[in-house]
Amino acid sequence: NGNTKKRVLILMSDTGGGHRASAEALRAAFDDLYPGQLDTVIVDLWTQIVKGPFRNLPKQYMFLQRNPTLWKLTWFYGVFPLSRCITEEFSYWIAHERVKQAFLMYRPDLIVSVHPLCQTLPLRILKDMGIRERIPFVTVVTDLGSAHPLWFHKDVDICFVPTDRVRDIARRCGVSINKIRQYGLPVRPAFWKESRDKVAVRNELGLEQAPTILIVGGGDGMSAVGRVARALACRLSEEFSYAQLVIICGRNVALQEELSRMHWPLPVHIKGFVNNMSEWMTASDCIVTKAGPGTIAEALIRGLPIFLYGFLPGQEAGNVPFVVENGVGLFESDPLILANHVIELFREQSHLVQMSIQAKNVGRPLATYQIAKDICDLLWLQRTKSPVSSPLEVS
Ligand code: UDP
Repeated sequence: NGNTKKRVLILMSDTGGGHRASAEALRAAFDDLYPGQLDTVIVDLWTQIVKGPFRNLPKQYMFLQRNPTLWKLTWFYGVFPLSRCITEEFSYWIAHERVKQAFLMYRPDLIVSVHPLCQTLPLRILKDMGIRERIPFVTVVTDLGSAHPLWFHKDVDICFVPTDRVRDIARRCGVSINKIRQYGLPVRPAFWKESRDKVAVRNELGLEQAPTILIVGGGDGMSAVGRVARALACRLSEEFSYAQLVIICGRNVALQEELSRMHWPLPVHIKGFVNNMSEWMTASDCIVTKAGPGTIAEALIRGLPIFLYGFLPGQEAGNVPFVVENGVGLFESDPLILANHVIELFREQSHLVQMSIQAKNVGRPLATYQIAKDICDLLWLQRTKSPVSSPLEVS
């Protein structure tokens, strides 16, 4: 095999938009730092490798997202040792042969997990195969203010955490301090660079040069987006003669169609899934969003004050105090009260500017590079330790 590129396997699952976004961010950083030297493959462990009863995991997650009580139960089901242990044994029984075959096929030199359900199973199978010592395994936690214990496995080589809060959870879950590195959340390349000129970006996107409020609900477009957008549109049109809303519905096509059919009292731009979130954020003055970690990290880098209207119980709950305590936004679940807060902020321009500066201070545009650099250092170290061109070639 003449291919001397090192193979990095990124394990994730498409539950929400954040995990794939983080995986793609890391791949882009690897290519930027070490052009042509790495072959990075991103794989959904559960739908592409394990399949069987787990092939619908992203759809089940979408369903649970819309039913917070069920989601809460699922979240805690994974916390309790007995239920966790039973599920782990069941998934091992279903999955071990397929995961083993996948490892033989991908022949990774290093594995990165960017998902809480991608630690226990792959690490156990690497051990079964007797190759764990030769294949470094790192976790990049993509939650901000709280994180499920399943993220943390004491046998990983490095566990990257974005914040003090997540670092403390990692410690409590038994990850030793010398394995923990703290930089921030991986974000896509567009967010590594300085913001472009707002006026120019607004022109390119077909927006007015007017106060702009961006409303999003994660990759799947949480349905509450509609309620929040309507409340904001009503209140804003009463207070300001000029203002515009940008509503990004993500993959929620039904929501996009529903909102597009409605009559709005002010200029509104309704979008489906956009691939240029950085531009939409640059064009906006603040963001109204659910407490998704990816969106929060990106909004901070773009210096947007953050108004949170909802969060997923469990993993997103901690993002609320993270935003509030850092002085970069607030949480309000009542859309009309939230709309009033947005209006107040636009009236108090100095407050808006101050929050925007604070958001930029908390944002971590360099995190992706720093994480990618450390991962590659581990890979190069492994190369000097083991002269075998691929750890799996000898098994
Ligand atoms: N996103 C995007 N286009 C869209 C909607 C969302 O690129 O139309 C991205 C968003 O910028 C963020 C991610 O999807 O990077 C959503 O991640 P988050 O953690 O906020 O929420 P999740 O969807 O994972 O629940």
